[in-house]
Amino acid sequence: MKNQLFIDGEYVDATSGQMFDVVDPSDRSVFHRVARGGAADVDRAVQAARRAFDSGPWPRMSGTERAKVLRRMGDLIAKRTDELARIEVQDNGKPLPEAVWDIEDTAGVFHFYADLAEGLDGAETPVELGMEGFTSKAVKEPVGVAGAIIPWNFPLLMASWKVAPALAAGCCMVLKPSETTPVSALELGEIANQAGLPAGVLNIITGFGAEAGQPLTEHVGVDKLAFTGSVPTGSRIMATAARDIKTVSLELGGKSPLVVFADTPIEEAVEWIMFGIFWNQGEVCSATSRVLIEEAAYDAVMARLVEEAQKIKIGHGLEDGVLLGPLVSPSQHEKVLEWIEIGKTEARLVTGGGVPEGLEAGCYVQPTIFADVPEDARIWTEEIFGPVVCVRSFKTEEEAIRLANDSRFGLGAAVMSKDLERAERVARAFRAGIVWINCSQPTFTQAPWGGYKQSGIGRELGIWGLNNYLETKQITTWNAHKPWGWYIKA
Ligand code: NAD
Repeated sequence: MKNQLFIDGEYVDATSGQMFDVVDPSDRSVFHRVARGGAADVDRAVQAARRAFDSGPWPRMSGTERAKVLRRMGDLIAKRTDELARIEVQDNGKPLPEAVWDIEDTAGVFHFYADLAEGLDGAETPVELGMEGFTSKAVKEPVGVAGAIIPWNFPLLMASWKVAPALAAGCCMVLKPSETTPVSALELGEIANQAGLPAGVLNIITGFGAEAGQPLTEHVGVDKLAFTGSVPTGSRIMATAARDIKTVSLELGGKSPLVVFADTPIEEAVEWIMFGIFWNQGEVCSATSRVLIEEAAYDAVMARLVEEAQKIKIGHGLEDGVLLGPLVSPSQHEKVLEWIEIGKTEARLVTGGGVPEGLEAGCYVQPTIFADVPEDARIWTEEIFGPVVCVRSFKTEEEAIRLANDSRFGLGAAVMSKDLERAERVARAFRAGIVWINCSQPTFTQAPWGGYKQSGIGRELGIWGLNNYLETKQITTWNAHKPWGWYIKA
């Protein structure tokens, strides 16, 4: 496991020489130490990226050439799936099958953007001007040097959502992984070198938000910032970026609703309610943490849901059959347990509500369900980011839509019904960027990802993710080969 910063194609110590501890949440032990990057390191990294962008080969290569490197990166990641997945288990806590899925997805993201890089070659859009003598076209070019700041819930996958499209576009990048899960992202440096990525195109600075993230957002050498994380940090990054008019894309938090109509088969409803909130320990920005069940089905669905939630095997991510690992860190554990205590004063706790017996040494939390949650309860309106679901009933479609949309967030939303016309109608009525019908959470690299309202600005993944890293330039030509005739008469 790497422990140094990756700058200009080399692994180097932090300028300060300092390191910080990385904790395994299954037993709170320190399993690794990595370089504690600061402003001086960010400056070195941005300068390297600047050189690579301003005078290096990467942005000047054809998309087809860049695609070869991206594809090799995807192949190298795929080859190391087991090893990288085990790093994620130790660093993040998630069960191994989920971590394997993350790494397979990460490789897939590199392959997907390799294809899109090829599509950039020769791409131009003719623009009809409606004036004789002029022709015009629009072309796409890389934005420049991008700074990427990412969270801890899908460490390497979140890195790939930014690194792969940025590199495909021809940008150079400084990546700052979360201080909570910095380990897997550092391996990307070696992978980039092995794949033949020119030095300086990708730089990785591990460190804390205030010490490494903030200087990256402030750096004048950065043209674009891509951030995934909490709303307060996103707001701060946007304010800092405003000073130099940096382009920003933000993927922030959520409190996503799942509306279940009474005609939904119970087993399907229970499966997706559970996947929507217990998968990845509920540490998912789009988790459907607010469940609305039509009154006629409420008691029956709740009964099955509680029964199944109590069967979930909780334990170490490497143990067979485990479906719920520890939360990512002691501080996240404490935060979620505090929310559960608040919930106990606001709603009816039907199952869970604490630390599972025998697992006190790790950051474990029981799958927790609150029923009959009032709309003004804090657990109904605030993001908890843990395996805690709030459920209430509704009587009419209108009421369900009103309750679903009554949030300052608008990341995900889901609806379940056998009546597909109704499902489509409700899907359209949701004020959210990602809508699922008859499921919750499946995420595809090809489809746009991002939120309405306070859940963010811009879209990642798919062609939209590539556009994040592209500028649009118009090239307009006067074809008449004579003065226009304003000052000089032809
Ligand atoms: P966070 O905002 O605390 O940290 C995210 C990143 O920002 C970290 O790398 C951190 O070091 C950095 N950071 C912190 N302060 C900074 C500053 N002042 N300047 C620059 N960088 C700074 O979020 P988190 O706790 O790591 O992640 C959880 C949050 O992320 C949740 O709110 C979740 O909803 C959100 N999230 C959103 C998506 C999405 O796609 N919309 C995906 C995953 C997570």
